[in-house]
Amino acid sequence: MTPLYLIEPERLGEIVPDHPRYRADQLRDWLYRRPVLDPAEMTDLPKDLRRRLVLYPFRVERQQVGDGGATVKWLFRTDDAKDIEAVLMGYPGRATLCLSSQAGCALGCTFCATGQFGFERQLDAGEMVAQVAYAQAYLRSVGVHGASDHLTNIVFMGMGEPLANYRNLREALRRIIEVMGFSARAITVSTVGIVPGIRRLAGEPWPIRLAVSLHAADDELRSRLVPINRRYPLEELVAAADEYARAKRRRLSIEWTLIDGVNDTDDQADRLARIALRLRAHVNLIPLNPTPLSQDRPSPPDRVEEFARRVRSRGVEVTVRDIRGADIDAACGQLRVRSKLPAGRPDH
Ligand code: SF4
Repeated sequence: MTPLYLIEPERLGEIVPDHPRYRADQLRDWLYRRPVLDPAEMTDLPKDLRRRLVLYPFRVERQQVGDGGATVKWLFRTDDAKDIEAVLMGYPGRATLCLSSQAGCALGCTFCATGQFGFERQLDAGEMVAQVAYAQAYLRSVGVHGASDHLTNIVFMGMGEPLANYRNLREALRRIIEVMGFSARAITVSTVGIVPGIRRLAGEPWPIRLAVSLHAADDELRSRLVPINRRYPLEELVAAADEYARAKRRRLSIEWTLIDGVNDTDDQADRLARIALRLRAHVNLIPLNPTPLSQDRPSPPDRVEEFARRVRSRGVEVTVRDIRGADIDAACGQLRVRSKLPAGRPDH
């Protein structure tokens, strides 16, 4: 049977043609309003139907719990053996899911574990929604230490570049917002700078938050770290991000992974501050989570502090993010990298 999350919510009736019409509504309600881990929990459906149902288009290949129970990371494996990562992060009274939009990624950012393995395929809208549903079901039935029993935030910041999978991303957003009832304001789409995608997203009806993964503030360094910058250079990216913020009246965030000796200099801090002020953006600094296949190291803590202080001193709001799940390889693409490495390969 086709996994139910791969079926458009409006077409669920087609898989239960021999049932009364309200059955499709019941199914939709379970899938999108009260997600469960196991169809056996769908207690108002007939038992023989529950036994036939397949909910998720993947199985859990690996689950890791870190940060004292506050972070859960899943490596989901699809039927065609593609790996998808999602990370659930619990905070007091909140829970954020970081989900994947592609299996692999073609953009090849040098510091990124996903980029090191190239592109496998686009994720279907249903595969993105299923990650959200799985996390909701997990929060309700198992729970995450200290967190709410439901998702409060969703960030498209896992494997893949969401705006390079626009059609499926859009459909996933529609299902999450309009069928699941999730607030668009609590959803963040992160991009390394697909300018036409930013413009298309600005034309959508939802006030989604945009995060620009900048990582470098001049074209020469940025083209080295984030090769798509050669196609959409900084000036174009900043202009499109500015248009987005104005169209949506939403504050942007700028993500900046701090790499020791690469983009943590005073000069980069000053250039970053200028861009952030122009965009009225909040800056999130994230010390690099080292990946097994790269020599790059995170900036040392005193350098992180000095970089943050320097950007702040120009009047920019800056947050230094903690590395969630560092003990469980929670950075983008890392669990998958490890699953592909020969056994026993030591970390750099
Ligand atoms: S950082 Fe994002 S866009 Fe860049 S290679 Fe990794 S997944 Fe792709």
